[in-house]
Amino acid sequence: MKGTVYKSTGSWYTVKDEAGHFHECRIKGKFRIQGIKSTNPIAVGDQVLFDLETLGDETVGLIHEILERRNYVVRKSVNLSKQTHIIAANIDLVFLMITMENPKTYTTFIDRFLATTEAYEVPCVLLFNKTDLYGPDMLDETKYLAALYREIGYTCLGISAKKGKNVEKVRELMKGKTCMFAGHSGVGKSTLINRIAPELDLKTAEISEQHGQGQHTTTFAQMYDLSFGARIIDTPGIKGFGLVDMEKEEIGDYFPEFFALKSECKFNNCLHLDEPNCAIKKALEEDRISWSRYRSYLQMVTGEEDTYRMDPYQES
Ligand code: GDP
Ligand code: ZN
Repeated sequence: MKGTVYKSTGSWYTVKDEAGHFHECRIKGKFRIQGIKSTNPIAVGDQVLFDLETLGDETVGLIHEILERRNYVVRKSVNLSKQTHIIAANIDLVFLMITMENPKTYTTFIDRFLATTEAYEVPCVLLFNKTDLYGPDMLDETKYLAALYREIGYTCLGISAKKGKNVEKVRELMKGKTCMFAGHSGVGKSTLINRIAPELDLKTAEISEQHGQGQHTTTFAQMYDLSFGARIIDTPGIKGFGLVDMEKEEIGDYFPEFFALKSECKFNNCLHLDEPNCAIKKALEEDRISWSRYRSYLQMVTGEEDTYRMDPYQES
């Protein structure tokens, strides 16, 4: 039988078959997936082949094959080993939630996140949340940023999760897709998801903090079918994705507006730093590429990490 993994707790996997029935499955034998050193062989969103076997009076599924992934996102393991943990696979759309204040989302964070989703080949939509709080200046800033990212090709939407503004449009974007929500703690992910799918009744940050555990609670990613024909992968406690290890030379390829001009640089291995006849530097001077994007790019290429803002595990 073929199915999709909806939940994984380490040794057990909840798999939905093509007829819509759920099965508790285990892995048969050892899995080795080429190219990825991960702590978990199978992740939520994976498509698997499994057989049902009866053990005593219980029927369990045994997964014997994992089908090729269209994409996947990882987070770095908390320990210092080089191993990664696959958060989810086969994602159609990720929504990056951004707030101009409380908390402030910096463009360096946005750009790093977008480069990551480009590298993972996961389409990303930008949601500017809490617009109900913004005065004229902040609204102008939001519009400026939305225009900047739209120009590059990203869908952008100003929303208010709290007041419900444009939430219907988010639902429209989600239809028929497997979606994830990302962004700093406090940007309104739970509030939005609760509004989109009240039936899920996700716990907000405040609730888990009351128990004194906050984001350190170990919880597992889980996929849910929503009433309007979308699927959502909830990743409690995970605020962002771990970066794939990128070579300096490939970072520019994950900035689509840089990539589009790259062939016009004099050197085909141009890093767009101080090389002569660089098409990206020229576009920058002519305002065809934004300085904030270039700054983020520089930060990534020179390896200057603003860990406080960048590392999803460092934020409070
Ligand atoms: P999460 O950490 O990303 O899941 O954020 P939450 O959904 O827990 O929201 C954090 C805080 O922001 C809560 O107090 C929400 O009520 C508030 N919030 C979320 N969305 C909005 C919004 O659109 N407008 C306003 N004014 N507050 C919001
Ligand atoms: Zn160049």
